[in-house]
Amino acid sequence: MKDITRALENKVENEQVEKELKKYLEVYRVSLETAKRSIVKKYGGNPAALSVGVSKTLKELLANESSVNLLCRIVTSNPKEIEVDGQKKGIIYGILGDPTTTLPFTAWETEDLELERGDVVQVQNAYTTEWKGNIQINFGTRTTITKESKDALPPFVPEMQECKIKDFNDGMRNVALTARILGIERREVNISGEKKVVFSGMLGDETGKAQFSSWADFELKENDVVKISGGYIKEWRGIPQLTFDERAEVEKLQIDFPSAEDISQRTTASIEELMERGGAVDVGIEGTVIDVKSGSGLIYRCKECKRVLQDGTCRIHGEVEGAADLRAKVIIDDGSGALTAIFNKEITEQLLNKKLKECIKEKGDNVIEDELTALLTAQPIQARGNVTSDDYGLMMIAKEAEIKEVDVQNEAKRILEELGE
Ligand SMILES: [Zn+2]
Repeated sequence: MKDITRALENKVENEQVEKELKKYLEVYRVSLETAKRSIVKKYGGNPAALSVGVSKTLKELLANESSVNLLCRIVTSNPKEIEVDGQKKGIIYGILGDPTTTLPFTAWETEDLELERGDVVQVQNAYTTEWKGNIQINFGTRTTITKESKDALPPFVPEMQECKIKDFNDGMRNVALTARILGIERREVNISGEKKVVFSGMLGDETGKAQFSSWADFELKENDVVKISGGYIKEWRGIPQLTFDERAEVEKLQIDFPSAEDISQRTTASIEELMERGGAVDVGIEGTVIDVKSGSGLIYRCKECKRVLQDGTCRIHGEVEGAADLRAKVIIDDGSGALTAIFNKEITEQLLNKKLKECIKEKGDNVIEDELTALLTAQPIQARGNVTSDDYGLMMIAKEAEIKEVDVQNEAKRILEELGE
């Protein structure tokens, strides 16, 4: 009976419809279907608006259903003009959602049709098609759409994605993570003229460390172990980080969890993993130096902008007196992939086992670069630092690096074993 009143756009009293229905079924002895159609016609409604399809949730939909009824929310709605047989025609395409999932839709008849983002609608007689293996919902000439109140449908809640820090990937939503807070600071920031407070810092689990930003105060403290549900992953300066706000759920846990110290020591990764993750914070790698790039060794920087001088000239400030510095740019390969690592003055001094002052005294061009090349090429190396990613690949700004001591005796034993004694 509801579909009759709906087809009549609630213009006829329920009581009246009930009376009519009784008459048609008991007096005229027609089928229910005919009765419904007759009543709708009699009161000036469109019988096509009667529901003949089955009601389904979006998740239950199959391809090529000829008539389904849906209660769903308009997630997005975009009008578009297309050309059919040389005729311009307006359509609306977008995404529908219900508590089970979201699916794309197209409305082919848009006369008097208004679909606004957030509207909850009862759809009668929609049909589905398949496009590249995905189900597409269509509203055609027989389809009727009626607006319902917004609370007729609970909001779409996508499934929470339990993950570890090593799984972080730019664009992930609704992430649930259990981690230890390794550091946190409260900052005030200005966002388009509005003062906002953000709590940011570092957190970690047994797979790595990551930066986070919380736009709400969850009273997080260093060393807390927390489960954060409802965050999202966004790349920030080439490294994926966790962001969450008041919509997230944060629960403090009293569980056995790796200590801050353990987390720092354990965070090593293969370069392949780092490529998949698109960067990481404070991560260790182990590999072999396969190249020392030019521009390594003794360099001079512009005192004003810190840019490296080329022939005593800064790209911005022209010919200037430079400040001496040391660095190494090396390619490290670990068998799974390669990255560029930048070693600063301190690391380079340590590797060379001499200070910048001594390097300056050595005469000749590229002496230090040549020395670094001889020293590092083909050496096994351990390095740790932040790894960022961009279109050119991965880059590590190393905080520490050292040539790995190869245990000669053990290595000999291993080779013997490999040879099969
Ligand atoms: Zn400069």
